[in-house]
Amino acid sequence: MISESLLTRGECAACRECCVFESYDLYDTPTVTDEVMERARTIDPAVRFAETEGRRLFMMKGGADSELRFCPMLDHERGCRLGEHKPFECAVFPFRLMELDGRRAVTVSPVCPAVREKPFGALLGEAKRLAPLIFDEADRYPQLLRKYAPGYPVLLIEDPIRSDRL
Ligand code: SF4
Repeated sequence: MISESLLTRGECAACRECCVFESYDLYDTPTVTDEVMERARTIDPAVRFAETEGRRLFMMKGGADSELRFCPMLDHERGCRLGEHKPFECAVFPFRLMELDGRRAVTVSPVCPAVREKPFGALLGEAKRLAPLIFDEADRYPQLLRKYAPGYPVLLIEDPIRSDRL
Protein backbone atom coordinates (compact mmCIF):
# COMPACT_ATOMS: atom_id res chain seq x y z
CA MET A 1 0.00 0.00 0.00
CA ILE A 2 2.95 2.31 0.61
CA SER A 3 4.02 3.85 -2.67
CA GLU A 4 7.18 2.43 -4.22
CA SER A 5 8.31 6.01 -4.62
CA LEU A 6 8.90 5.94 -0.86
CA LEU A 7 9.85 2.33 -0.11
CA THR A 8 10.63 -0.22 -2.79
CA ARG A 9 9.68 -3.88 -2.44
CA GLY A 10 13.39 -4.65 -2.53
CA GLU A 11 14.10 -2.44 0.47
CA CYS A 12 11.32 -4.11 2.47
CA ALA A 13 12.27 -7.63 1.37
CA ALA A 14 15.86 -7.09 2.43
CA CYS A 15 14.89 -5.86 5.88
CA ARG A 16 11.71 -7.20 7.54
CA GLU A 17 12.56 -5.20 10.66
CA CYS A 18 8.83 -4.53 11.08
CA CYS A 19 8.07 -8.27 11.46
CA VAL A 20 10.63 -8.91 14.21
CA PHE A 21 10.29 -7.41 17.67
CA GLU A 22 12.33 -7.05 20.79
CA SER A 23 10.62 -8.61 23.79
CA TYR A 24 10.08 -5.12 25.24
CA ASP A 25 8.47 -3.55 22.15
CA LEU A 26 5.54 -5.89 21.59
CA TYR A 27 3.50 -2.67 21.74
CA ASP A 28 4.45 -2.25 18.10
CA THR A 29 3.01 -5.56 16.89
CA PRO A 30 0.04 -5.28 14.52
CA THR A 31 -3.60 -5.24 15.54
CA VAL A 32 -5.40 -8.34 14.27
CA THR A 33 -8.97 -7.83 13.10
CA ASP A 34 -11.50 -10.66 12.84
CA GLU A 35 -10.87 -10.91 9.09
CA VAL A 36 -7.11 -11.16 9.52
CA MET A 37 -7.53 -13.72 12.31
CA GLU A 38 -9.67 -15.97 10.10
CA ARG A 39 -7.21 -15.66 7.22
CA ALA A 40 -4.24 -16.41 9.50
CA ARG A 41 -5.97 -19.53 10.84
CA THR A 42 -6.48 -20.89 7.35
CA ILE A 43 -2.74 -20.48 6.73
CA ASP A 44 -1.60 -21.81 10.11
CA PRO A 45 -4.21 -23.44 12.36
CA ALA A 46 -1.70 -23.38 15.22
CA VAL A 47 -1.42 -19.59 15.26
CA ARG A 48 -2.32 -18.08 18.62
CA PHE A 49 -3.53 -14.64 19.67
CA ALA A 50 -3.44 -12.46 22.76
CA GLU A 51 -5.66 -9.59 23.87
CA THR A 52 -4.23 -6.46 25.44
CA GLU A 53 -5.70 -2.99 25.93
CA GLY A 54 -8.59 -3.79 23.63
CA ARG A 55 -6.36 -5.02 20.83
CA ARG A 56 -5.94 -8.56 19.50
CA LEU A 57 -2.32 -9.38 18.70
CA PHE A 58 -0.45 -12.34 17.30
CA MET A 59 1.38 -14.40 19.90
CA MET A 60 4.94 -13.91 18.75
CA LYS A 61 7.45 -16.72 18.38
CA GLY A 62 10.80 -16.58 20.07
CA GLY A 63 13.71 -18.74 21.04
CA ALA A 64 14.62 -19.19 24.68
CA ASP A 65 18.12 -17.88 23.98
CA SER A 66 17.02 -14.70 22.21
CA GLU A 67 15.26 -11.47 23.06
CA LEU A 68 13.83 -11.40 19.55
CA ARG A 69 10.23 -12.29 18.83
CA PHE A 70 9.05 -13.19 15.34
CA CYS A 71 5.60 -12.71 13.87
CA PRO A 72 4.08 -16.18 13.29
CA MET A 73 3.02 -15.05 9.80
CA LEU A 74 6.59 -14.35 8.75
CA ASP A 75 8.19 -16.76 6.30
CA HIS A 76 11.88 -15.94 6.64
CA GLU A 77 12.51 -16.72 2.97
CA ARG A 78 9.41 -15.32 1.31
CA GLY A 79 8.06 -12.64 3.64
CA CYS A 80 4.56 -12.25 5.03
CA ARG A 81 2.41 -15.33 4.50
CA LEU A 82 -0.72 -13.14 4.60
CA GLY A 83 0.36 -11.35 1.43
CA GLU A 84 -2.15 -8.68 0.41
CA HIS A 85 -4.33 -9.70 3.38
CA LYS A 86 -1.77 -8.60 5.96
CA PRO A 87 -2.98 -6.39 8.83
CA PHE A 88 -3.73 -2.81 7.83
CA GLU A 89 -1.01 -1.51 10.14
CA CYS A 90 1.53 -3.69 8.34
CA ALA A 91 0.33 -2.44 4.95
CA VAL A 92 0.87 1.20 5.93
CA PHE A 93 4.02 0.65 7.99
CA PRO A 94 6.12 2.69 8.87
CA PHE A 95 3.17 5.04 9.34
CA ARG A 96 1.25 4.70 12.59
CA LEU A 97 -2.16 5.97 13.61
CA MET A 98 -2.04 7.46 17.11
CA GLU A 99 -4.17 9.48 19.48
CA LEU A 100 -2.50 12.66 20.61
CA ASP A 101 -4.26 15.13 22.90
CA GLY A 102 -7.65 13.79 21.82
CA ARG A 103 -6.91 14.02 18.11
CA ARG A 104 -5.90 11.42 15.56
CA ALA A 105 -2.39 11.74 14.20
CA VAL A 106 -0.26 10.01 11.61
CA THR A 107 3.21 9.33 13.01
CA VAL A 108 6.16 7.44 11.64
CA SER A 109 7.89 4.54 13.36
CA PRO A 110 11.48 5.28 14.32
CA VAL A 111 12.54 1.66 13.76
CA CYS A 112 12.32 1.53 9.95
CA PRO A 113 15.93 1.87 8.76
CA ALA A 114 15.01 2.61 5.13
CA VAL A 115 12.67 5.43 5.94
CA ARG A 116 15.31 7.18 8.03
CA GLU A 117 17.22 7.75 4.79
CA LYS A 118 14.26 9.34 2.96
CA PRO A 119 13.82 13.09 2.46
CA PHE A 120 11.31 14.52 4.90
CA GLY A 121 9.23 15.92 2.01
CA ALA A 122 8.76 12.46 0.52
CA LEU A 123 7.71 11.08 3.89
CA LEU A 124 5.23 13.87 4.50
CA GLY A 125 3.81 13.61 0.97
CA GLU A 126 3.15 9.90 1.39
CA ALA A 127 1.62 10.45 4.83
CA LYS A 128 -0.76 13.04 3.35
CA ARG A 129 -1.70 10.67 0.52
CA LEU A 130 -2.48 7.83 2.92
CA ALA A 131 -4.09 9.86 5.72
CA PRO A 132 -7.70 9.66 4.40
CA LEU A 133 -7.34 5.89 4.02
CA ILE A 134 -5.83 5.56 7.51
CA PHE A 135 -8.54 7.65 9.15
CA ASP A 136 -11.29 5.77 7.28
CA GLU A 137 -9.87 2.47 8.49
CA ALA A 138 -9.80 3.83 12.04
CA ASP A 139 -13.51 4.67 11.70
CA ARG A 140 -14.15 1.01 10.87
CA TYR A 141 -11.74 -0.38 13.46
CA PRO A 142 -11.35 2.05 16.39
CA GLN A 143 -9.01 -0.44 18.06
CA LEU A 144 -6.36 0.64 15.55
CA LEU A 145 -6.00 3.94 17.38
CA ARG A 146 -2.99 3.67 19.71
CA LYS A 147 -2.02 6.09 22.40
CA TYR A 148 0.83 8.31 21.32
CA ALA A 149 4.20 6.81 22.15
CA PRO A 150 7.17 9.10 22.74
CA GLY A 151 9.80 8.83 20.03
CA TYR A 152 7.38 8.64 17.12
CA PRO A 153 7.71 11.78 14.98
CA VAL A 154 4.28 13.28 14.26
CA LEU A 155 3.75 13.96 10.55
CA LEU A 156 0.20 15.27 10.57
CA ILE A 157 -2.81 15.68 12.80
CA GLU A 158 -6.38 15.25 11.61
CA ASP A 159 -7.86 18.61 10.70
CA PRO A 160 -10.52 19.81 10.94
CA ILE A 161 -11.74 17.88 13.99
CA ARG A 162 -14.86 16.13 12.80
CA SER A 163 -18.02 17.09 14.67
CA ASP A 164 -19.04 13.42 15.11
CA ARG A 165 -15.87 12.83 17.11
CA LEU A 166 -16.34 15.71 19.56
S1 SF4 B 1 1.46 -9.93 9.66
FE1 SF4 B 1 2.99 -10.10 8.02
S2 SF4 B 1 3.72 -8.00 7.60
FE2 SF4 B 1 2.66 -8.00 9.61
S3 SF4 B 1 4.28 -8.31 11.15
FE3 SF4 B 1 3.45 -10.33 10.61
S4 SF4 B 1 4.76 -11.12 8.96
FE4 SF4 B 1 5.12 -8.91 9.15
